Amino acid sequence: MGPERIREIEPHAAGLRGLWSPTTGIVDFRRVALALAEDVEGAGGSVLTGREVLGLEEHREGIVVRTADDETLARGVVACAGLQSDRVAAMTGGAGRDRVRIVPFRGDYYTLLRSARHLVRGLLYPVPDARFPFLGVHFTRRIDGEVWAGPNAVLAFAREGYRRRDVDLRDLRATLAWPGLWRLAGRYARTGIAETWRDWWKPAFVAQLGRYLPEVRSEDLVFGPSGVRAQAVTRRGEVVDDFDIVAEGRAIHVCNAPSPAATSSLAIGSVVAAQAVERFAL
Ligand SMILES: Cc1cc2nc3c(=O)[nH]c(=O)nc-3n(C[C@H](O)[C@H](O)[C@H](O)COP(=O)(O)OP(=O)(O)OC[C@H]3O[C@@H](n4cnc5c(N)ncnc54)[C@H](O)[C@@H]3O)c2cc1C
Repeated sequence: MGPERIREIEPHAAGLRGLWSPTTGIVDFRRVALALAEDVEGAGGSVLTGREVLGLEEHREGIVVRTADDETLARGVVACAGLQSDRVAAMTGGAGRDRVRIVPFRGDYYTLLRSARHLVRGLLYPVPDARFPFLGVHFTRRIDGEVWAGPNAVLAFAREGYRRRDVDLRDLRATLAWPGLWRLAGRYARTGIAETWRDWWKPAFVAQLGRYLPEVRSEDLVFGPSGVRAQAVTRRGEVVDDFDIVAEGRAIHVCNAPSPAATSSLAIGSVVAAQAVERFAL
């Protein structure tokens, strides 16, 4: 689309050229997850939350999943441990140990004040940088009508650290000791510094948004929620941007499932299910 068509669809957006995806939608992923859990329970399964898996041990008769309270003998295990996926993969041997490491990147959102929400009708994205498809703050009109702007991406000092001040020494040590991090940092120092600068200096963040939504003002934006991306990085400093599923013995590990893995979760699930049927002779 040219600038005129952009203005018809998003009257406050500016751009030289645009791509319009008329079938793009948005979901409340919490409700998706609850619906999936209902399906599992409806089919006779159970969903147990708040139980950290501390060990996976292979035996002749199956694989034992150990938590602080109990042990379960299973025919097979599918692990999708997000920010901990490398550590859980390492529980069954080689799959996670030295191949890739999860480097956590925090992403913060601002939200538009109610008075400025009219500036965005749908989902508005900048052109992605092919080297870092996960970078680039965007606007998201959510199903409750709120509009989020973000996320940025800065190195997090804790895998589950959702605030700037969160530090977990074990996580930090694991991140800093990974040679891949330093290779990545050396190669893309400018990008990293720019992201950190925008994290601390709101006017810089707003300027980035203003490139394609010129009317947005700093006073329209208030600090919103945060998330932490689990990004697998190789020893050589490559960002693994594809989904990475590794099978080992009686375990299948989803080692890297970056965005858009939530959108693609049913498709990824089909791939994993097909592997599980074969590997675990289900
Ligand atoms: C800010 C942000 C914005 C995003 N936006 C989008 C988007 O718009 N679209 C999209 O498709 N994706 C998006 N994503 C990416 C999406 O959230 C992930 O791709 C997806 O959540 C990965 O799913 P997963 O099941 O692999 O991991 P997760 O969703 O992280 O789930 C892993 C689970 O494993 C649990 N766990 C970890 N270790 C253990 C253990 N030892 N024992 C027991 N349980 C354990 C964790 O508690 C967690 O519940 C976004 C991510 C972030 C951070």
